[in-house]
Amino acid sequence: MTHPTDTLEHWVDGKPWTGESTRTAPVFDPALGVPRRTVRMATATDVDAAVKAAAAALPAWRDSSIATRHRFLLNFRELLNARKDALAEILTAEHGKVLSDAAGEIARGLEVVEFTLSMPHLLKGEFSQNASTGVDVYSVREPVGVVGIISPFNFPAMVPLWFFPIAIAAGNTVVLKPSEKDPSAANWLAEVAADAGLPAGVLNVVHGDKEAVDALLTHPEVGAISFVGSTPIAEYVYRTASANGKRVQALGGAKNHMLVLPDADLDLAADAAVNAGFGSAGERCMAVSVVLATESVADELVARIAERMKDLRTGDGRRGCDMGPLITREHRDKVAGYLDTAVADAAELVVDGRASTFDGDPNGFWLGPTLIDRVPVSSAVYRDEIFGPVLSVVRVEGFEQAVELINASPYGNGTAIFTNDGGAARRFQRQVNVGMIGVNVPIPVPVAYHSFGGWKASLFGDAKAYGPNGFAFFTQEKAITSRWLDPSHGGIDLGFPRNS
Ligand code: NAD
Repeated sequence: MTHPTDTLEHWVDGKPWTGESTRTAPVFDPALGVPRRTVRMATATDVDAAVKAAAAALPAWRDSSIATRHRFLLNFRELLNARKDALAEILTAEHGKVLSDAAGEIARGLEVVEFTLSMPHLLKGEFSQNASTGVDVYSVREPVGVVGIISPFNFPAMVPLWFFPIAIAAGNTVVLKPSEKDPSAANWLAEVAADAGLPAGVLNVVHGDKEAVDALLTHPEVGAISFVGSTPIAEYVYRTASANGKRVQALGGAKNHMLVLPDADLDLAADAAVNAGFGSAGERCMAVSVVLATESVADELVARIAERMKDLRTGDGRRGCDMGPLITREHRDKVAGYLDTAVADAAELVVDGRASTFDGDPNGFWLGPTLIDRVPVSSAVYRDEIFGPVLSVVRVEGFEQAVELINASPYGNGTAIFTNDGGAARRFQRQVNVGMIGVNVPIPVPVAYHSFGGWKASLFGDAKAYGPNGFAFFTQEKAITSRWLDPSHGGIDLGFPRNS
């Protein structure tokens, strides 16, 4: 294990860089409950230096050929794939998710890199020959400039990979500010990018908290901000960066409902609820946190979910367990507090995660999988994004009541329906105000060639992440109307140009 006095520095202009800051923060191994290293926390001056490095690298990178950028992406994909086991170990050590889940996170990030390989096609403009007599009109896509990417703790590799490969492919340069809770993956990715031939300054990493984020949001040389995190911060980031003239996409929190209709395959639904509720200890923005069980099948469904939970092993992600610890002790205690709230609100604690046994160090931030039935929709357990291994069951009369609840939620990230009735599934898909929908699929994260993002308080801004939206966000279009000299074009006409 790395000695705790080891400090993770920023990565600026192609190398580790300390900057002026003397402030550091501990980075914990959540399964051991002790710091594994510390991380440097940037001042606004440090962020300015990183932005300056990105701005200095911009002209050459923006003007590099598509072939050059494409070759870098090919190399990056190969190196990332070859070295991914080392990255999975870092994710497990700092986030706590089990190794197999860490590998899954990397696989989804790699998919975005693979999608980005289609950049020569995606960056093509359009051409209309002879739009008016002797006049051609065409459009080209150009990079936005220096872009800031601010990422959350729960996907320390995948979320940066949602954004920076596309930003770089499009000719932008990047300053990435990862979560200070598990920051090492970002430097690791930047080093692999450098090994794959990325010129210094194209991808920079600064570490820190609000001070660093504010410096990025207000920096005059930053043209766009991609943010992922909790809803209050996403809203703040959206307002602040837009007020400072930047293009912004700010993805926020979630409360995802899974509706189970009476005709559903209850075994499939119970498997799905357990997998989507407790994978990554519920610390996923696409986790299912509420099962809407139609009353006629609710008892049976709850019994089948509880039965499956008996076999889940919670513990150190390096020991082949199903579920790891929570990210910090404070977060663990906050999530556990919701179990008291559930009891106070007269919900039924079917499985109490505080009573679980754990295959890990006693100092780890443990909370076992928890199932709460008959959760009242007035309870904070239903309303709040808990972001832990707590699955709530809300009993509903039927389809209409379920859709009403889903649409009354301030969030609109993901939702799922379990049914064998195609008509009901189709009606569900049309009626819910949610950005990503699963039909008998509990975690409907779109593949990399579609785009990812929610509605309402789950996404501020109008561009989703990756896929076609990603290229649109990281490029700005120029439309060129062109006429080459021809004697027939002479003459005075003060009227608004008309096509003929
Ligand atoms: P967070 O909002 O606490 O932090 C996200 C980022 O913002 C981090 O880099 C952090 O350093 C920074 N930050 C924290 N406080 C700040 C402040 N006051 N001012 C400016 N910046 C600040 O989120 P988190 O706890 O790291 O991540 C979990 C949250 O992210 C959950 O709400 C989850 O739903 C959400 N999330 C959403 C998606 C999505 O795609 N919609 C994906 C992953 C995670």
